[in-house]
Amino acid sequence: MEVVFLSSEVVPFAKTGGLADVGRALPDALAEAGLKVNVFMPLYGTVETKKSGIKKIKTLKLSLGAKKYVYEICGKKEKGVSFYFIKQKTFFDREGIYGSSLGDYPDNAGRFIFFQKAALHSLKSLKIKADVIHLNDWQTALVPKFISKKSCLPTVLTVHNLAYQGEYDAKLARYAGLKKSELLYGSRFNCLAYGISNASAVTTVSPAYAKEMKTKKFGCGLEDFLKKRGQYFKGILNGLDYSLWNPQSDPAIAASYSASSPEGKDKCKKALQKEMDLPQTDAMLVSFVGRLAMQKGMDILVPALQKLISGKIQFVMLGTGDAYYHRVLTALAKRFPKNFALRLDFDNDLAHRIYAGSDLFLMPSQYEPCGLGQMIAFSYGAVPVVNKTGGLMDTVSEYSPVKKTGTGFLLRDYSASALEQALRKAMSIYAAPGSFRELSVRCMRQRFSWKRSALKYIRLYQKLISESVVAARRIQGEK
Ligand code: ADP
Repeated sequence: MEVVFLSSEVVPFAKTGGLADVGRALPDALAEAGLKVNVFMPLYGTVETKKSGIKKIKTLKLSLGAKKYVYEICGKKEKGVSFYFIKQKTFFDREGIYGSSLGDYPDNAGRFIFFQKAALHSLKSLKIKADVIHLNDWQTALVPKFISKKSCLPTVLTVHNLAYQGEYDAKLARYAGLKKSELLYGSRFNCLAYGISNASAVTTVSPAYAKEMKTKKFGCGLEDFLKKRGQYFKGILNGLDYSLWNPQSDPAIAASYSASSPEGKDKCKKALQKEMDLPQTDAMLVSFVGRLAMQKGMDILVPALQKLISGKIQFVMLGTGDAYYHRVLTALAKRFPKNFALRLDFDNDLAHRIYAGSDLFLMPSQYEPCGLGQMIAFSYGAVPVVNKTGGLMDTVSEYSPVKKTGTGFLLRDYSASALEQALRKAMSIYAAPGSFRELSVRCMRQRFSWKRSALKYIRLYQKLISESVVAARRIQGEK
């Protein structure tokens, strides 16, 4: 089976969030399962082509609107996956992926329409005969419009975060060749709404988020589009790449450790306290790594932190995001230098050391399609404290000190007082000898394998391919 996989971000070439991790790990897992996988992404100005060994393959031409554009296909092969890059100066040779410090690029609709058309256009010259096309998010959601209906080529659209829809003025729809009657979302041109309605199947990144997406509260206005897809919409949980996130083999951390020999974790904690200028005591160390945004629960995290900060507890936070939270957290870190260390930065190595050095990991997100942070925290034995939503619900279960079951602490509702209560429960368990280490080791033993998720995608591809064969026969018969 041959798959064409389109993503606007792929690790290590370009990343702004979890999409980039999936854009790499899922194709790797599909290739390992024996599929032929071709991944397409735009070649942004920031991609390090020389260092990554990306080479030019071909120069081609393609029209968009009244203009003809020259573009190059570049490529490289890694772990059995072929990566192709669409290089086009006007659209992609820029510093940002989606925008600059001034905001999103105003021509993003055109940029990603070109990307999708060019990826499909290049298939013939690359001699790729796709059996299925896998799309990711709004940047690739118009592909069902660009493939001929007669080809009956199945498409799967994965939605990584429903809040980002690629919605534009209806005038721009002409670049996609969409007529007014094809605009599904009132008078606006909404790329994700089009993809949700027209892809052969739609998936999202956890079963719980799939359910939430069909409700008014989480549906971001697209809940009815999703409900209409019936059995052709479902959640498949993301996995974690354990070759990157494993305390047994992580070069970034102070000491290696594992579930069967967890002692090194204490060394990692001491090293983290030292690095962050915190006293090297046995206070419970609680961390947060992520975007400083409302979605990630900042509005409840800040007041809960203010309540607990003077106790026998230490907080470490790493993140960038809203200027307001930068200010509030900076002031708090200045006031409580012995209890709170803050780094307003994006630093992958430090993130590894934080996961390894913490006892508890905070993820009180308002909504969370899947979430990587809690899976990474598990792997490093940092016990997650999470809101009961989306992928967090699918991966974390409440710890019971009596039954000795469960893998974390869940908020009873989305509020600062619920977060404070969960943290107080964790503190009391931390204070009781033995229990916390046992819980931390159980966390380390959790596994979220990409292999299992990839098999679910393969089953879906197989089902769609067999349906498309039937549809193609019917079209043949009608001729
Ligand atoms: P998102 O909604 O941002 O995609 P996820 O939890 O799915 O959230 O993924 C976030 C990923 O980005 C994790 O791998 C996390 O470690 C990493 N990350 C987030 N913020 C930072 C940061 N400031 N420095 C380093 N890594 C970060």
